Amino acid sequence: MVARASRMTPPMEYVRLYDEAAGLDGVIAIHSTARGPAAGGCRFWTYADESAAMADAVRLAEGMSYKNAMAELPFGGGKAVLRRPAGAFDRAALFEAFGEAVERLEGRYVTAEDVGTTVADMEAIARRTSHVAGRTALPGRAGGDPSPWTALGVFEAMRAAVAFQSGSTLSGKVVSVLGVGNVGAHLCELLAEAGAELVVADIDPARCAQMVERHAARVVSIDEIAGVAADVFAPCALGGALDAATVAALQARLVCGAANNQLASEDMADVLLARGVTYVPDYVANAGGIINVAAEYLRESADEVRQRVVGIGPRVAAVLEEAARDGLAPSTVADRTAERLMQERVAEPA
Ligand code: NAD
Repeated sequence: MVARASRMTPPMEYVRLYDEAAGLDGVIAIHSTARGPAAGGCRFWTYADESAAMADAVRLAEGMSYKNAMAELPFGGGKAVLRRPAGAFDRAALFEAFGEAVERLEGRYVTAEDVGTTVADMEAIARRTSHVAGRTALPGRAGGDPSPWTALGVFEAMRAAVAFQSGSTLSGKVVSVLGVGNVGAHLCELLAEAGAELVVADIDPARCAQMVERHAARVVSIDEIAGVAADVFAPCALGGALDAATVAALQARLVCGAANNQLASEDMADVLLARGVTYVPDYVANAGGIINVAAEYLRESADEVRQRVVGIGPRVAAVLEEAARDGLAPSTVADRTAERLMQERVAEPA
């Protein structure tokens, strides 16, 4: 089955996954392999029907092509979406069956964790294929929890954007953070070390209390956070944080966070531009996690991961400079840069 993606044109390849005995039901979507194997995690979620799972796989695989290309990784974009069985099931058997399907693609697709999957699931997959990352980290090697790397990348992106906007540092800046989970909490730590003042909001009061205790953060409600007086707004919860209401309420002149798909609709990029708010495109800022996953697959060291993650700062600066020069939204510049990079063959597909 071949379809056209919305943002650009390479054909999308789907591999339907079905193994009744193992409870496996899903799809692998491969959006692009020009830069190297299609890399992207495996989502394990409840979907109303097959077409809902397929639509999610298509959207996510396309997003991975943009993110991997922009991070200049030798990978294309892909994603697996597995439907969570309604009743009881043997989790190890299900992920082993998925591993067999990944193995049949002979390295054209590399999987890792995503929403609903764990390190233990990756270990089950690894019993059937070597084309998997997100496994238990080995000493000195890349691997393990990607959240600290994602947070470091967002921090570097924010630092570069503040320097671009005002020529200053994060010291004394007020940063409002929506969602202080794995990534948001690590980001708060880096921001506090850099001398920023923190305002936080989360649906989980215990997470907020930790930020108060550790960093003397001020807590506000999730409805208030976008509108508080701040220099930077960092969405680090779920997608869609930037809708018409939050964008209208924003006092911060910079948005830079970890959440995927922050723009509730594409037109929000232009609304932000018109309001004089600089939006650092999510997939440019939050690539630290996939950089870590890619490095694990390529058997690189933790030092190499750090170098690549710190490289997110200059990349953000380049996007913002080009956007300012051409009078475009940074997300438009990022998309066209990623589309150019997506055509570059940097590795032979396995
Ligand atoms: P997480 O689940 O650890 O943290 C999310 C936090 O957001 C939690 O504290 C949760 O209570 C809070 N939250 C959920 N819904 C909320 C709402 N409606 N309003 C306010 N707070 C809410 O997830 P994470 O790993 O920290 O990821 C955060 C975001 O970053 C996600 O969008 C994820 O897709 C994206 N991201 C994460 C990584 C990574 O390495 N973990 C990499 C790239 C992108």
